[in-house]
Amino acid sequence: NKQVIFTEIPEGFPEAEKNMAIEESTIDLDAKLGMGEFILKTLEISVDPYMRGRMRDPSIKSYAPAFDLNKPMTGDTMSVVIKSNNPDYKVDDLVYGRTGQGVFAEYVHVSAEYAKNAYVVRNDAKENKLPIRHYVGVLAMPGMTAYYGLNKIGKPKPGETLYVSAASGAVGQLVGQFGKALGLYVVGSAGTDEKVKHIKSIGFDDAFNYKDGNIEENLRKCCPKGIGNAVFRGLVDVSFVTNTNLFILDIYFDGVGGKMLDAVFLVANDFARIISCGMISQYNLAKPEPLYNVINVLTKRICFDGFIIMDHMDYEQTFLDEVTPLLVSGKVTYKEDEVEGIENTPSALIKVLKGENFGKMCIKVADL
Ligand code: NDP
Repeated sequence: NKQVIFTEIPEGFPEAEKNMAIEESTIDLDAKLGMGEFILKTLEISVDPYMRGRMRDPSIKSYAPAFDLNKPMTGDTMSVVIKSNNPDYKVDDLVYGRTGQGVFAEYVHVSAEYAKNAYVVRNDAKENKLPIRHYVGVLAMPGMTAYYGLNKIGKPKPGETLYVSAASGAVGQLVGQFGKALGLYVVGSAGTDEKVKHIKSIGFDDAFNYKDGNIEENLRKCCPKGIGNAVFRGLVDVSFVTNTNLFILDIYFDGVGGKMLDAVFLVANDFARIISCGMISQYNLAKPEPLYNVINVLTKRICFDGFIIMDHMDYEQTFLDEVTPLLVSGKVTYKEDEVEGIENTPSALIKVLKGENFGKMCIKVADL
């Protein structure tokens, strides 16, 4: 029974063998279970950028708890119950390990106490015949992040222009597709030409490789000036608006921060909404990069709003009810980068942080 252990707090980019390790656990699959206990066989593990933030000194406070040193790492998982002494988790039930709490091990012995907060039964995953990996991605934390962030924080109106960075990834590819379904003009960026081609193929109106050329110039090329501009569409009071034809974006879904965000401040419309979802370009830097153009938040009356999806779990059922049928009917597609074998979890995390994943990164641990 292999498990993924956090072994050392990294400086800069983590290294697979230095900061994490694959170790055997002593779990006894034949042990008699105490009241409320059960054993899970892990099927799928989700690998996500926020895990880098958990590889820190625990004295530094943040929204997700620091990983414990020399303990198994945790995150989103999908598993099946193989043995149980708990009426709420029966043998063969499919079980979702909630964000940050599903244990990264091939087999997990769960206590009644830990189960209460960490694991939920998801037998709906048996009914609609979607791949198990969807339940740690599009139908889990990343999907909800895209849906909640765009709808609740972006407050999109048909005809507006939406720009999405990290657009081929777990969250971004969905933001763009949801945006198209809402009648927005959608532009994306990604770090390779292959990713750019892909996001155009799933419906983005235009896209660019942000490593190729100047970001601001690329944005001006891709976002047709004025189209979708809130002013021209009469959505805001023109008397307050300045320099309208210089600015081209109404909504920016930011997964990147840094230089990308700084460029968007320059091209955003008056009254634009910037959905601050992630700043992956900063996660491995010892010192954050400076932002030079923040004054535009004031002068353009931009709504610059950060959110953490785990604060909005009351929205989960609405999200699942609305997005599951879109996926089943094929109206929304989802690209995953699935790697086999739990021992590849550390290197998969590093791939995500270095932008080498293409689609939602996940690990297939076992077949159902
Ligand atoms: P992705 O699947 O998009 O993977 C991360 C991608 O980020 C990489 O593939 C890479 O794509 C891009 N990237 C990496 N480094 C840089 C860099 N220096 N500059 C620009 N792009 C970079 O991850 P997710 O979709 O899971 O997450 C996207 C963002 O959303 C992250 O910042 C994450 O922390 C955040 N997030 C926030 C949540 C919340 O609740 N607020 C919830 C979930 C995610 P490329 O080839 O395009 O460079």
